[in-house]
Amino acid sequence: MSTDPQYDVIVAGLGAMGSAAALQLARRGVQVLGLDRHTPPHALGSSHGDSRIIREAYFEHPIYVPIVQRAFDLWRELEEMSGTSLLKETGGLMIGGPGSELVAGARRSAEAHGLAHALLSAGEVHARFPALHPDDGMVAVWEPRAGILFPEACISATLAEARRHGAALGLDEPVQRWAVEAGHVRVTTPRAEYRARRLIIAAGAWVRSLLPGLDLPVRIERQVLHWFEAARHAEWFAPERCPVHIWQFDGRRFFYGFADVGNGVKVAFHHDGELTTVQNVRREVAPGEVEATRAVLRRFMPAADGPLRTSAVCVYTNTHDGHFWIDHHPRHPQVLVASACSGHGFKFAPAIGEILADIVQNMPPRFDLQLFRSRC
Ligand SMILES: Cc1cc2nc3c(=O)[nH]c(=O)nc-3n(C[C@H](O)[C@H](O)[C@H](O)COP(=O)(O)OP(=O)(O)OC[C@H]3O[C@@H](n4cnc5c(N)ncnc54)[C@H](O)[C@@H]3O)c2cc1C
Repeated sequence: MSTDPQYDVIVAGLGAMGSAAALQLARRGVQVLGLDRHTPPHALGSSHGDSRIIREAYFEHPIYVPIVQRAFDLWRELEEMSGTSLLKETGGLMIGGPGSELVAGARRSAEAHGLAHALLSAGEVHARFPALHPDDGMVAVWEPRAGILFPEACISATLAEARRHGAALGLDEPVQRWAVEAGHVRVTTPRAEYRARRLIIAAGAWVRSLLPGLDLPVRIERQVLHWFEAARHAEWFAPERCPVHIWQFDGRRFFYGFADVGNGVKVAFHHDGELTTVQNVRREVAPGEVEATRAVLRRFMPAADGPLRTSAVCVYTNTHDGHFWIDHHPRHPQVLVASACSGHGFKFAPAIGEILADIVQNMPPRFDLQLFRSRC
């Protein structure tokens, strides 16, 4: 039997990051096999729940700005390629105290990169966007380019395009183990053994199970999403009148929300969730969790405090510093890891796919990736 690799690259995990890597590689004519334990898009990992925020004035660090700008272009390109609507620009508001991490960080990125933005007082926010009631003394960074991505549609379109460009996709086919042998990577699933020159591990919250023997600095955090019906003035929650919004309040607490794009007004806390594992995550939502969200709605968005439509549970895969992990395996240069996107990675997915494809093809990095180095 030949021991030549059958594929140039195997991608383990076809959620946001892995599907994007598979598409980028397939478009470049690389022989790629993508494998997933489920059939993405699915609701068991980190990429479900109807909507994701995309924003440019990146409060987490200015280094992300050129990457998200590239992602905007690639999402638009994917829309054209696939004939699907994936991104709705609504503008965005980062609301909090003037010195808060959120507001000060968004301003820093906007100023460093010369992005269109404005600083609004609490009164100006409420006058322009009547659904939102910031506390007196809060301010907001308004950025016109932010908006909503539709994650399930994004992943479906990415996988369909990857397949159309020649990627082989093994769905409901989990990677059980892998090993580096004679410079190649052997990947075992319940259906077959495959060999490839490179392996990309993009298993999201399952990353630990594919990296045995590494002391991974990642923690899985349970997050709950809620969709409410407007109690009054449903028109205030139309996308034209309700930009994506993130709030920092009471010190370091965060929540965010979206316009009603068909399923109700979606809101959620960012972080403050219980630590868990993807295998044992509590999928049911307790009444107290709905109440805690209502308390925030009553304070900042009282017109959204209507009947609960539904809730969902999702997981973050966090590094200790909140930055991503995109790097080679510390011991095996044939293996790349793209994971731990710490609750803010979706918007970057096509750009991360491109970064991974560049690394595979030994191209010089287009971005400063220093924040994303392996921390093992
Ligand atoms: C509630 C919530 C809200 C968020 N909001 C935002 C937001 O507004 N904006 C934003 O930019 N980001 C946001 N994020 C973060 C973003 O959604 C994630 O960073 C991103 O979706 C992670 O993508 P991923 O590819 O790493 O993981 P996933 O998309 O979960 O993909 C991992 C895939 O690996 C597969 N897999 C696992 N094990 C194996 C195996 N052994 N073999 C084969 N396949 C395997 C899984 O089935 C899964 O399909 C949010 C996340 C959550 C949970």
